[in-house]
Amino acid sequence: MASISLKNVVKRYGSGKSAVQVLHGVNAEITDHEFIVIVGPSGCGKSTLLRMVAGLEEVSDGTISIGDRVVNDLEPAKRDIAMVFQNYALYPHMSVFENMAYGLKIAKVPVDEIKARVDKAAKILELGHLLERKPRALSGGQRQRVAMGRAIVRQPSVFLFDEPLSNLDAKLRAQTRLEIQKLHRELGITSLFVTHDQVEAMTLAQRMMVMNGGNMEQFGTPEEVYHTPASTFVASFIGSPPMNLLKNAPGGKAGAIMGIRPEHLDVAHEGWEIQVETVELLGAERLIYGRLAGEQLIVRIEEGRHSPAPDEKIFVKPREDRLHWFNAETGKRI
Ligand code: ADP
Repeated sequence: MASISLKNVVKRYGSGKSAVQVLHGVNAEITDHEFIVIVGPSGCGKSTLLRMVAGLEEVSDGTISIGDRVVNDLEPAKRDIAMVFQNYALYPHMSVFENMAYGLKIAKVPVDEIKARVDKAAKILELGHLLERKPRALSGGQRQRVAMGRAIVRQPSVFLFDEPLSNLDAKLRAQTRLEIQKLHRELGITSLFVTHDQVEAMTLAQRMMVMNGGNMEQFGTPEEVYHTPASTFVASFIGSPPMNLLKNAPGGKAGAIMGIRPEHLDVAHEGWEIQVETVELLGAERLIYGRLAGEQLIVRIEEGRHSPAPDEKIFVKPREDRLHWFNAETGKRI
């Protein structure tokens, strides 16, 4: 097991005038056993950061340590990590058992030991009854579990996950999420998990690193990131629908953006007057899309409540203790 330390980690591609910097100095101290999610939109640098920890990309500046070793110049095989990819690429001609055992066989682990480790991993992943099957006879979810099994049997100090659930359908994704949580509870291996999906991040992370344009905007627990977002970027990226960000709201402050989550607005008899545009039923709740002083405002209400009609005028009241304020220039939390 191991901690991971990122100190001022910079990544540049190319050199001289054609160099592009894609990570601008990332700092994070990750404790042994922690499950960390790196989340952000496409192109923000999250895979690059993960691949640098794995040793698949060079570190341009700064240091990466795993445990008490600086690993900047250490080859991937010596870093005591195991990686699970989006594309799990199992060997088609090998059985599940052979797929899981292959890396250990190459590393010349004794046969008995290999069997014990594969059986243990198969038990955790509920693959015991599938060990003799070939990958083509497995569902997508089962194949992904074999890919995880292959990582588990190596008993690494660190797991690195690169969007491992993106090829699964929504139902299977939710189920595999639960399996990954269970796996982490049982094995407690320090994990870095990359995703662009904020729901995945919120549900899996003990702490999450929210990335934007090569910078880490916030590093905190899902609760911290949700309730005290460090910037307008984080406020609008985490949570669906996103936080309302308003420049012209009544009671606003000059030079500041007011933030209020859709669930922290209540339909009332007085307050902000909203022109309703559309109403969406999501099952247990409804989203009211309206306009307030020319800006879009989303209000979330329970399904059982009276639903306004499009074009209707309604009043809503923000819960005062749930207002957020951001600097209009920098987007940073005030
Ligand atoms: P993410 O995983 O968040 O989608 P990446 O880490 O893959 O983002 O990429 C971050 C940025 O680095 C992107 O702008 C991408 O175009 C750029 N990039 C990635 N690989 C290379 C490369 N080999 N050469 C130049 N730029 C690259």
